[in-house]
Amino acid sequence: MTIQKRLQQVQQQIAEACRRAGRSPEEITIVAVTKTVGMDKTKEVLAAGVKHLGENRSEGLLPKHKEIGTDAIWHFIGSLQTRKVKEVVDKLDYLHSLDRLSLAQEIHKRAEHTVRCFVQVKTSAEESKQGLPPEEAAAFVKELAAYPKIEVIGLMTMAPYTENEDTIRACFRTLRRVQEDVQALQLPHAPCLELSMGMSNDFVIAVEEGATYVRLGTVLVGTEQEGEA
Ligand SMILES: *Cc1c(COP(=O)(O)O)cnc(C)c1O
Repeated sequence: MTIQKRLQQVQQQIAEACRRAGRSPEEITIVAVTKTVGMDKTKEVLAAGVKHLGENRSEGLLPKHKEIGTDAIWHFIGSLQTRKVKEVVDKLDYLHSLDRLSLAQEIHKRAEHTVRCFVQVKTSAEESKQGLPPEEAAAFVKELAAYPKIEVIGLMTMAPYTENEDTIRACFRTLRRVQEDVQALQLPHAPCLELSMGMSNDFVIAVEEGATYVRLGTVLVGTEQEGEA
C-alpha cells in the first residue's frame, strides 16, 4: 500500500474517533515516525503532505535533517542522552521526551532558541517505559522555570503494548489528569495545552481521550523491508 493510501486510512480513523469524542480533526497533528525507514520513504511521507517527522535517535535525525532541512518539522521522540543534546538541539522543533532536570539544563545551555518540549510521564506500570511518575510531574514542570529556553507545551506518554483497551485508556486519562494539574499552576513557561499520545496500535483511543499529537510509525510508513504490494 502506498503511504498516500495509508495516510487516507489513518485520517479517516482519526475523523471517526473525533466524531465519537465531539472533537475536530484539526486539533490533531500527525507526526510520522520515520525511525525505521530510509530517505526515500521519508521523502514519500513529505510528498504525501505530512510535514511533521519523528525520529528517536540522533543517528536517524541528523542525516535526514541534513538533506531535508526546514522542509519538515522535526520531532525528537526518543530518550535523549545529555551528551547528544548539542548536536541535535538546534535541529529540533519539538522534544517529546523531557524527563529530567539535567537534560533541561543541558538544553538550556546549548539551545539558541526556545525549545518546545513535552514532559514525558510514565503512566503505565511497565518497567521499561521512560518518564516521570504522574504524581511527580507537576512539581517537575514547576522546576523547569529555572531554564527559560524550555517551553513546556504539553505532556507525552506511551501506553503499554496490549490488547486491553481499558489499560490503554487508563494511561491516556492519567496523562490528561496530570495536564490539568499542570495547567492549574498557571506557569508562564508551561501552558501545557498539548498531549502527545497514541501510536500505531492505540492512536484511535488516544484521539478519543484528547491527544493533540499522535506519533505514527508502522501504520503510516510501514517498514523498510516490506514492498508496496
Ligand atoms: C517508535 C515510536 C513510535 C511509533 O511507533 P509505531 O508503533 O510504529 O507507530 C511512537 N512513539 C515513540 C516514542 C516511538 O519510539
